[in-house]
Amino acid sequence: MMILPGATLGMLGGGQLGRMFVTAAQTMGYKVIVLEPDMNSPAGVIADQHICAQYTDETALEQLAELCDAVTTEFENIPATVLSYLEAKTTVHPSSKVLSSTQNRLVEKAFIESLGINLAPYAAIRSTEDIDAIVDTFHFPAIIKAASFGYDGKGQVVCQDANDVRAAFSDLNEVECVLEQRINLEREVSTVLARSQSGEVNHFPVAENVHVNGILHSTTVPSSVSEQQAKQVIAMAETIASGLDYVGTMAVEFFISKEGDILANEIAPRPHNSGHYTLDACQTSQFEQQVRMLCGLPSGSCDLTSPVVMINLLGDVWGSSQPHWELLLAQPQNKLHLYGKKEARPSRKMGHYNVLASTVELATESAANSFEALKAD
Ligand code: ADP
Ligand code: MG
Repeated sequence: MMILPGATLGMLGGGQLGRMFVTAAQTMGYKVIVLEPDMNSPAGVIADQHICAQYTDETALEQLAELCDAVTTEFENIPATVLSYLEAKTTVHPSSKVLSSTQNRLVEKAFIESLGINLAPYAAIRSTEDIDAIVDTFHFPAIIKAASFGYDGKGQVVCQDANDVRAAFSDLNEVECVLEQRINLEREVSTVLARSQSGEVNHFPVAENVHVNGILHSTTVPSSVSEQQAKQVIAMAETIASGLDYVGTMAVEFFISKEGDILANEIAPRPHNSGHYTLDACQTSQFEQQVRMLCGLPSGSCDLTSPVVMINLLGDVWGSSQPHWELLLAQPQNKLHLYGKKEARPSRKMGHYNVLASTVELATESAANSFEALKAD
């Protein structure tokens, strides 16, 4: 059954991904209610209604289920129990089952492996004995990552040897961790796709990503991967999506090693930062796809309309004053998206811009020039 414009949609989470969902849904004529504990969130301030409460607040969830024809999320760390609570009362995508499979890196890796998809070699670290058990066989350098609640490189430490692992594990308060071999990266890519309730998949073009300090800096489309590699990446993402029986927009991040191996990195059960280019360079954005899939509408076209480079704007580009927006906007093919966050802290995602051009080379050059120009004095 299709949920048509005029209906009310619920969004768990008030961040920038939620905000861009709200914009897409409102553009199409839906009302959106955001549940988010922060009074001043990017999505909450533009929603038709903001329920300001904890995600686990049963009265708030009751109200959300009552008012909404369907509910989705922008944040994979919403407790899966919250989604199962809502599932008993209204339409919810992605499912609580998807969230339980993707919230913990170890659970997620076991799931990806069960599909026959390769990962960076890893080991579970739950105790200091686990470290002792792997030291002789593990290939360093490695990266230790907290198994839960990590994002934008937070909760990750590079380790050259077992002593580094012991120190980092202790610094991470001995929470459950995964130790991953650090891959010699040729490049990183991702794919964003939309999967419908009947299992039909439409994918956006493969995106090539550059991370700085574990945080996405730029996305370039078309990517420089071979057609063969692009096909493999898309096939793997589709296998993961159908393995999860996923409904909605999701992304998979991949490593491509110097040796040419394609390794899955992680799943995002929601639109993804590396899909922000779709806002200006595809016929349909990843957020419109999220609305369409949630509502049981047909997929929009994922066709690329222009070569594009997306650059993230972190709080670091704010100095004591605002960045030079006038210089960024002086370029007619720059598309600025700011998330309405008041405080510009280092590493905080404040916005992004997309640069459209007739070729990837021109977009890359123009994006870099604009990035230099906009930095605050
Ligand atoms: P997050 O959840 O913070 O995005 P990721 O596991 O995706 O965590 O790591 C962030 C970035 O750090 C990656 O995109 C990549 O650039 C780098 N990185 C993480 N793990 C590895 C690894 N095993 N080998 C090489 N680089 C890595
Ligand atoms: Mg990542």
